Order: sequence, then C-alpha cells, then structure tokens
Amino acid sequence: MDQSTLPPHVLIFPLPLQGPVNSMFKLAELLCLSGFHITFLVTDHIHTRLLKYSNIQSRFERYPGFQLETISDGLPEDHPRSGNGLMEMFDSLKTKNKILFKDLLTSGKLNLDSRRPVTCIIADGIMGYTCDVANDVGIPIIFVRTISACCLWVFFCLPKLIESGELPFSDNDLDTPIKSIPGMESFFRRRDLPSFCRSGNLWDPSLQLYLPESTENPRAYGLIINTFDDLEGPILAQIRTLCPNLYTIGPLHSHLKYKLSVDSSSPLTSSNSLWKEDTSCITWLDSQPSKSVIYVSFGSLAVMTKEQYMEFWYGLVNSGSRFLWVIRPDSVTNNSSEIPLELSEGTKERGYIVEWAPQEEVLAHNAVGGFLTHSGWNSTLESVIEGVPMICWPYFLDQQVNSRFVGEVWKLGLDMKDTCDRLIIEKTVRELMDGRKDEFMNRADQMKKLAKQCLSEGGSSYCNLERLIKDIKDM
Ligand code: UDP
Repeated sequence: MDQSTLPPHVLIFPLPLQGPVNSMFKLAELLCLSGFHITFLVTDHIHTRLLKYSNIQSRFERYPGFQLETISDGLPEDHPRSGNGLMEMFDSLKTKNKILFKDLLTSGKLNLDSRRPVTCIIADGIMGYTCDVANDVGIPIIFVRTISACCLWVFFCLPKLIESGELPFSDNDLDTPIKSIPGMESFFRRRDLPSFCRSGNLWDPSLQLYLPESTENPRAYGLIINTFDDLEGPILAQIRTLCPNLYTIGPLHSHLKYKLSVDSSSPLTSSNSLWKEDTSCITWLDSQPSKSVIYVSFGSLAVMTKEQYMEFWYGLVNSGSRFLWVIRPDSVTNNSSEIPLELSEGTKERGYIVEWAPQEEVLAHNAVGGFLTHSGWNSTLESVIEGVPMICWPYFLDQQVNSRFVGEVWKLGLDMKDTCDRLIIEKTVRELMDGRKDEFMNRADQMKKLAKQCLSEGGSSYCNLERLIKDIKDM
C-alpha cells in the first residue's frame, strides 16, 4: 500500500492521572473526527481501571483508526499513585518509562500495513523525557498541558522567583505579595504559589520537577493548552514570549461535544472515569429546585483528614443549602464509621453522597447552582463552561494558583484556601448560594458565553484546532 496516501498517525501519551487522561481522550476523539489514526498510550495501571469503569472501548469502536496501547510506569500495581505516592510515579516515569517508551517506538510494534509509522507525538510536557526520545527517533513532538496557563506561567517563572530572592521563603507570612511574575504583580501572594513553594527548601522534589519547565516546554514543535483565549489571554501573551507556537483549543470536553453535535447524528456520552460512576445522583438532582444544589467534589487525588471532613460536613449541613457530595473511598484518612445524628439527619433532608459522580453531567444539571471544588483545572473548566460559580478549597500544585484566578481575576466565586472551619464553610456557602448569588451567576454566565464563542466556528479554540490539524497533516 502507498502509505503516503494514508492519514497522519498520532501517538498521544497523557500523564497517567485521571484529569490528563480524561482531557486527552477528548483530544484523541477530536483528531479521530478529522480522520487521523491515533495510538493512545496509557500505563497498565490506567488501562486496568479504564477497562473496568469507562466506556472507551464501545465509544472508540466507531473510529477504526483508533488503537489503545499500554506501557508500564515502572511501579508495582498496588503502589499508591495519589497523595505522597505521586512523586514516586514521576521519578519512575523519568527513569524506567523513558527506556520502555523508546523501545516501543523503535520496535516496529506500532507499524501496521494499514497505517503509517507514527508521524507525530503528542505528550504531556511534564514528561520532558519524551522529547529526548522523539528527537532520538526523529519524530516531531508537540507538548500538551492539561493545567491552566496561569499555573504554567508560574512554573515558567520559578527560576525568576529564586533569582529575585522571593523563593524560598521561610517565615509564615503567606500574604506577602509576589512581585517577580510578570502580569501577576498586583494580586499574587505567597499563598497563591503552587503548594510545594511553601517547603522553604530549594531541593524539594516537586520544585525540582517543575523548575526546568521554562526550558523544557519550548523544545517541542508547539504547545497545546487546554484553555481558551478569552479566559487567559494576558497570561497566554506572556507564555508566547517563550513558546510562540501555542494551540489553545479548550475547554476540550466541550470542544468535543460541540463537534459531535455538529458532525454526528448520534453523539455518545463519554466516560473516561477511573472509578465507577454513581448515576443515581442525577435522579436525585432531577427532583431538586433549579440552582438550589451545591455540588462538592475534590477530584481524583486530594485527600483530607477526618477532622477536615467533619468541618466540611457540619459546614454544609449548617449552611441550609442542598448539597451533592462526592467522597471517594480513599479520600479521607483515618475515617471511622460513627456519624453524629445531626449530620445524618441534615444529609437525609437536603443532601446526597456518592463515591464518584458523572461530573460533567452534574455540572450541566439545572439543579446545580454552585461548585465547592479543589480547583483542579478540569473541574474548573467544566464549571466555567456550564456557568456554575465556585467556592475554591485548593489541595496542592496548580490548584493554589487556579483558585486565586477564580476568586480575584475572573471573579467567578470565592477562594477559601488555607481555612477549614465549619463556620467559614457555612458562611461561604451561604454567600455563594444566596447572598451574592446573582452577582456570581451573572459573571459565570458571561464567561460561559465567551467560552462557547471560542468553540464555535471562527472562535479562537475552533481556529486553533484547525491549525493544529493542518500542522500535523503537513508534518
Ligand atoms: N470527576 C468525575 N467524577 C467525580 C469527580 C471528578 O468524573 O466524582 C472528573 C472531573 O470531571 C474531572 C476529573 O475527574 O474531569 C478531575 O480532574 P481535575 O483536573 O479537576 O482534578 P484532579 O483529579 O486531577 O485533581
């Protein structure tokens, strides 16, 4: 077969975590809709969970050019990959996965008669070693980031923060302004820096991991970011000074929905979940009044202590608001089964608890009027596109940055970082769901409109995806 007549063959390699895997499946499907051949590479650990809980197999059946491939992250299957185990995964990827990744690309395993050898790699930019491998084997690589541009820019500026003496800091005054991040001088504080900056130690492993970002990311042909220009325009302009070839094509999950509604007669609901979704919460939401429910979820990685969990529970019940709360089985440390009566009664009356929810569907539900979130980037974008105001309780990494932008720059909600007190939680929920409801709803509505415009024909995300497709075809 004359292979030059075949479509491009893109290998997509996401960071093996729920958020990045989720958004990269959306990108994969967008590229499948353009007729591309896709090899989607996941670690064995992710693969097992996807087969168990997601619908990717049935969903991708209709794209004959799609194939799922697996690789080891170098860790034993039972290794904890959340909380503190996360850094060990990063280490293992860099040392062990690099060799396996190169072996996979040179083994010929991906070269079938019916498809071209891989013509382009799209890999998460935090796995900088994929660029070394791509250069070695002579395949063009585009990096992708599934964090916010504002957080990426903070990562890019880490060397500047060290040069200026703003990092490390040892005293406890977290309200000290940060002055050496261009574009953020007027509102950014120590407490808004990624959580690892608080360690007071330049040799902190997370800081060391993110320190080379400003030199690693520009090495690729281009950089895809899951965001949209109307949300992060000024910060994107800063990033372009280092990475001129940016493809801002987000919010990816909505971009896909939009394309499916235009291109296909029967759009399928997608689930890329690594936990079993409990859809009974949708039935519960169906019977709640419009905009009356606060949805509470802290994503796939955050963990909290039993004490924090109880503060949240009291705060939610005492706020008088209806609430839908996701409590992952592994998310509360030292949890015991005793529950005070006032909590179980308050929850029976106004609340609903699940272990994992179909979050996109929840946020799109008319009954949901607010989101108490850990400010993970996917959750933030999913909230923005549905016009749902947020209360932010960031856990780690990029979430401290995102929550500052939600509260202070975009004014889409309230930032509750570094507090965990039932009275504050109660007051903040009342403020979002009642006292300042109209103000936040109006802001969220405006941003939702801007997001939708970016995705529709002629909008920035729409055009950037077209450009990405063309650039990959030309490779
Ligand atoms: N999510 C979900 N059900 C839940 C909680 C989360 O489907 O009950 C999804 C959510 O829609 C998002 C992802 O899990 O796409 C979490 O990613 P995010 O970047 O917000 O946070 P992380 O889990 O990486 O901290």
